[in-house]
Amino acid sequence: MPHSVKWLGHSACQITSASGCVILIDPWITDNPSCPVSKEDIGKVDIILLTHDHFDHMGTDIPYLVNGTNAVVIAQPELADVLQESGVSAENIIFGMGMNIGGQVEVAGVKITMTQAFHSGTAGSAVGFIIILEDGKTIYHAGDTGIFAGMELLGKIYPIDLALLPIGSVFVMDPLQAAYSLTLLKPDKVIPIHYKTFPILVQDASEFIELAGDKAPEVQVEALEPGQELLL
Ligand SMILES: [Zn+2]
Repeated sequence: MPHSVKWLGHSACQITSASGCVILIDPWITDNPSCPVSKEDIGKVDIILLTHDHFDHMGTDIPYLVNGTNAVVIAQPELADVLQESGVSAENIIFGMGMNIGGQVEVAGVKITMTQAFHSGTAGSAVGFIIILEDGKTIYHAGDTGIFAGMELLGKIYPIDLALLPIGSVFVMDPLQAAYSLTLLKPDKVIPIHYKTFPILVQDASEFIELAGDKAPEVQVEALEPGQELLL
């Protein structure tokens, strides 16, 4: 069975590995106008990765998702404290206290490294994640960020099979920065995320697709609709 990467709209993504490990990233489900599913539809979850505490990433469903599934949440310590105040047990937070940028943890055979992101946050800073599935397939979720030179290092350290990159501008990379970041990250494939959710964001992927074809023609752009999945 291949791995599945499903875009749930905005920054929310659901990865189901070939061996059945389910990873949710930034699960803003309830009140996400782009999300085609409800929290009750999610079912099994093993790992929840949270990039930062803005409402359009943290949402309000994490206590429900964790308590219903016994998933492990991976986030920075400051954010882990906030989650505990909202009803998430320390037993459902990695090491009971969270982790930080540069570190790698392994949960259910999946290796997760927290990476930097250039953005803001109230509790802790904003981050991204490198996700190495059981067979070595490597996925990068950038979180919310502008382009940064360290993306070149990430591209050198990790052979990225798939990058999940924000392209919506205003709060994150615009299509030009996102397209240029492909020359640094060197992924095989990219799924554009964090666009068209709000009227002020970029409304479609066409400019990104055109710029990516110009700057990094070797990268395959997979512009999904919310609810669609890419098999890896
Ligand atoms: Zn944000």
